[in-house]
Amino acid sequence: MAANRNLLMLPGDGIGPEVMGEVKRVIAWMDANRAVGFDIDEDLVGGCAYDAHGVAIADATMDKAMAADAVLLGAVGGPRWESLPFESQPERGLLRLRKDMELFANLRPAMVFDALAEASSLKTELVAGLDILIIRELTGGVYFGEPRGITDLPNGERRGINTQVYDTYEIIRIGRVAFELAAKRSGRVCSVEKANVMESGLLWREEMTKLHAAEYPDLELSHMYADNCAMQLVRMPKQFDVIVTDNLFGDMLSDTAAMLTGSLGMLPSASLGAADATGRRKALYEPVHGSAPDIAGENKANPLATILSYAMMLRYSFDLGADAELVELAVRGVLDKGLRTADIMADGKELLSTTGMGQAVVDEMAALAG
Ligand code: NAD
Repeated sequence: MAANRNLLMLPGDGIGPEVMGEVKRVIAWMDANRAVGFDIDEDLVGGCAYDAHGVAIADATMDKAMAADAVLLGAVGGPRWESLPFESQPERGLLRLRKDMELFANLRPAMVFDALAEASSLKTELVAGLDILIIRELTGGVYFGEPRGITDLPNGERRGINTQVYDTYEIIRIGRVAFELAAKRSGRVCSVEKANVMESGLLWREEMTKLHAAEYPDLELSHMYADNCAMQLVRMPKQFDVIVTDNLFGDMLSDTAAMLTGSLGMLPSASLGAADATGRRKALYEPVHGSAPDIAGENKANPLATILSYAMMLRYSFDLGADAELVELAVRGVLDKGLRTADIMADGKELLSTTGMGQAVVDEMAALAG
């Protein structure tokens, strides 16, 4: 069984290796108690890869990522590498992974654990129990469309140009991801664009409507303009289940939704590619946060975003929903017991280190599996 599950770990820089260490603790427990076996390889990405190989990700590492069933990444970057030329920056490693693996679907869950609801900038009753999933198209749209650039005009002024462009296949493939994931949740998809003022948005709406009618008539599809969606996310976020949107709107709406949850150290993410003939998708899982150089090496980082990214991997890459749920329930249980890392600390709670939090999750898993 283990040989079928090929996992590449890329801890990266800063707190990356620390938070990844706690995922290894969870995996070790699962290996011993749940027979969830992985063939695990580990390699360098980001600044550490630059130090070792002179590039943010070596070709050999890329080859491993392309062959893996799933890649789990910590974080990249830090002040040590900030003065490097653009093409050598640690973030280039991450961008190359996303590009070469053709990861077109970015999944950002925004979940509020009841125990942390007070950390949100919104009223507790608006966010307690929130569980929404934002699916952002990641490889198309205005960030990549041609023509682009800055040109000099005859009148001495300059013009900046970017092009918002979507072809039908790009809309259909992200739509399918949204409907398929919604089918495993409450079955509701809200498709978000600006069909009122943009032709690309109109096409997006028409293609989503056709796809829904042709392939997913049992699920619920609604449409919303992106500006309204931004308002609704802070007015009544629990009205949503799955939101699917383009690259630009998804960039903003997923960060808005992230803030509803109150803490960067709690946010997981996944990026998926197209399914091959066997249904397998290339996939990269990573916490939303960066390498947090201000606390790196101090055993203070919150490992829960990375542990929750691992849970997403169990669910989406390996169809191990029950195991994913065990990890998520353990995280919830730990928070309910008042255990906290420094970033989510509150009065009357117990402060844990990175390793302390990882161990608390494993202890809770053991108690739940009982
Ligand atoms: P950051 O996410 O690293 O940190 C922002 C703040 O949140 C810091 O105060 C940090 O201590 C805190 N924080 C982040 N994650 C935490 C965790 N798990 N537990 C506790 N506290 C946490 O963002 P930044 O400071 O803007 O960037 C730092 C470096 O990370 C830069 O080099 C940046 O380019 C890089 N970065 C990488 C990624 C990535 O790898 N995906 C994402 C964002 C930033």
